[in-house]
Amino acid sequence: MTISKKLYIKGKKYIPGGVNSPVRAFKSVGLTPFFVKNAKGQYIFDEDNKKYIDYVGSWGAQILGHADNRILKNISKTIKKGITFGAPCKNEILLAKEIIEIFPAIEKIRMVNSGTEATMSAIRLARGYTNRDKIIKFNGCYHGHGDSFLIKAGSGSATFGKPDSKGVTKSLAKDTISLPYNNIDKVKSIIKNNNIACVIIEPIAGNMNFVRSNPSFLKELRALCSRYKTVLIFDEVMTGLRVAKAGAQNIYNIKPDLVTLGKVLGGGFPVGAFGGKKIIMDKLAPDGDVYQAGTLSGNPVAMAAGLKTIELISAPRYFTKLHNKTMYLVNGMNNIAKKFNKDFYADGEGGMFGIFFTDNQINNFEDMRKLDSSIFVNFFQFMLHHGIFFAPSMFEAGFISSAHTKKDLDFTLKVFKKWLESN
Ligand SMILES: *Cc1c(COP(=O)(O)O)cnc(C)c1O
Repeated sequence: MTISKKLYIKGKKYIPGGVNSPVRAFKSVGLTPFFVKNAKGQYIFDEDNKKYIDYVGSWGAQILGHADNRILKNISKTIKKGITFGAPCKNEILLAKEIIEIFPAIEKIRMVNSGTEATMSAIRLARGYTNRDKIIKFNGCYHGHGDSFLIKAGSGSATFGKPDSKGVTKSLAKDTISLPYNNIDKVKSIIKNNNIACVIIEPIAGNMNFVRSNPSFLKELRALCSRYKTVLIFDEVMTGLRVAKAGAQNIYNIKPDLVTLGKVLGGGFPVGAFGGKKIIMDKLAPDGDVYQAGTLSGNPVAMAAGLKTIELISAPRYFTKLHNKTMYLVNGMNNIAKKFNKDFYADGEGGMFGIFFTDNQINNFEDMRKLDSSIFVNFFQFMLHHGIFFAPSMFEAGFISSAHTKKDLDFTLKVFKKWLESN
């Protein structure tokens, strides 16, 4: 038995499912997870000393690759001066200023400790600002595990949603309306009669694989929100500082009212943030009457990791080079699949990509759900066996770091070809 397997069995005794976040359990790919011993650059090493090319990168957080020496140096210097103060420190101001300079939509920002906290706080703020209760989200978008988001579309003509997890109350579900992604008509019909506090969306969805919003859909969504005084929230926890430095909002050139960030922002530390228009952000305590707080929020070490990460991804042509790497893999896979007449396509932007075992363009969760997961499972297992770690679910995006080399990508393409040959 491998060390990973032993740890997993032991872990299940102490931790529900043996993991601290469900997707890590590898349930949807029919395996038991490997346990990570260490990681460096583009590689992860498991407890049994097997090496993997990592296309997960801690779900996108590790844009520079794992344990980048420049980050390590910076945080070890910072940590010696104290780990957390529960009182203001300079690094918070420096990181806030950096983010405000990068994102035109953000005039003020507050740091929290996870993406979940960021989205939870953002919808509370939107509700407090508008004095309205209902929110619109889209099927297949993920906004963390806050109760208001664990809601699926209601059945039939019901506009209000239904709990998507035990423990979420029906009364809370009534305030969340979940609509199909990329369908503006549905939004139009709901937004005009329902006093909607906010619409929250992943402008490029990374939690139903990698699905772009349609530019006209997003533009009309912006116009509708302005017209009905509904707060438009772009959840860029995954895409911010990842598909482009200034996120998907920069690619689409659309300014939301509020933005949520996370993942890359903390350089691997637990950091999230929400920010946006000053007039909305000023509603937050202590200046305003929308309460939000955090014991460890804005701690100096996490802020230093974020600051250094942003400095490094601001290097000239950083995102052009990252995007080119991503497209080398994406185009390479597309070309190989074509030669084998395989129903397949891949797409990517910046340091993020998606692979689909279908020929049909996927536009929303409803499309995505129709796909046969057994092909993905077979692919995943084959790649993992050959030392390549893709996200262990067909509903998750992939990530490339600046540490990945052409050699890594070529090896990945070679193994992909081998998989096609063996099928
Ligand atoms: C990861 C993610 C979240 C949740 O962030 P956590 O740090 O896991 O709480 C929220 N929204 C999006 C778009 C995400 O990708």
